Amino acid sequence: MARRKKIYEGKAKILYEGTEPGTLVQYFKDDATAFNAEKKAVIEGKGVLNNRLSEFFMTGLTNIGVPNHFIRRLNMREQLVRQVEIIPLEVIVRNFAAGSMAKRLGIEEGERLPRPIIEFSLKDDKLGDPLVPEEYIIAFGWAAQQDLDDIVSLALRVNDFLSGVMYGVGIRLVDFKIEVGRVWDGDFQRLIVADEISPDSCRLWDRESGQKLDKDVFRRDLGDLADAYTEVARRLGVMPSNATHMPKPTLIN
Ligand code: 5GP
Repeated sequence: MARRKKIYEGKAKILYEGTEPGTLVQYFKDDATAFNAEKKAVIEGKGVLNNRLSEFFMTGLTNIGVPNHFIRRLNMREQLVRQVEIIPLEVIVRNFAAGSMAKRLGIEEGERLPRPIIEFSLKDDKLGDPLVPEEYIIAFGWAAQQDLDDIVSLALRVNDFLSGVMYGVGIRLVDFKIEVGRVWDGDFQRLIVADEISPDSCRLWDRESGQKLDKDVFRRDLGDLADAYTEVARRLGVMPSNATHMPKPTLIN
């Protein structure tokens, strides 16, 4: 069998050429990285969980009319997605102060923000994804003003959807990151949500205990990351209630 063509390998995912024109296969790895890959580990089962969770969120977005790249899940670790031209920005939406914002402004983590705040970082690992103002984005041509208006509108819709879904299962959506891509439908271009939506790219706190159920568990050594993600999946009904994270099967020749 011919090996499929690898298009791109990132820290947590690999993109392969898709099975149909205009598509890609997105493979979720078990690798976890933090602090711009200074901290690394392999968390068994993380890729399987994120594949399922991203499918769940993207399908929900499709159902409420928020365009995104997800087409269908192919297997435990892979999904078929629409090929997009990625806008080189990380779009971050914050509902409560945490992480880099809390540090930058000296605000206590968990403080509710006056309204959802959107910020942009340039996707550039070498520079550590620096925060960039809209002025830079337009001036350097990373996106046009109309694109930014569309991105803000997409990000707020994703925020409302995710906040509501999480609220329903006793989880506070503190903040999250999305990526956006450009697609062409004939002569028309539009922007859609791409990449992934998973506990790797969100801050999720239990509403009662404040327990962290996201990648901060790994960043801050707070326990077993796969257990935290399994709990999110269990509450959302994405995994059966008695599921513990599944180790890779032992292959017997
Ligand atoms: P912060 O700027 O506070 O570190 O991150 C804000 C939110 O965006 C958090 O939910 C964090 O997980 C997410 N985020 C920021 N940068 C990245 C990144 O490079 N990769 C991923 N997966 N998430 C990120």
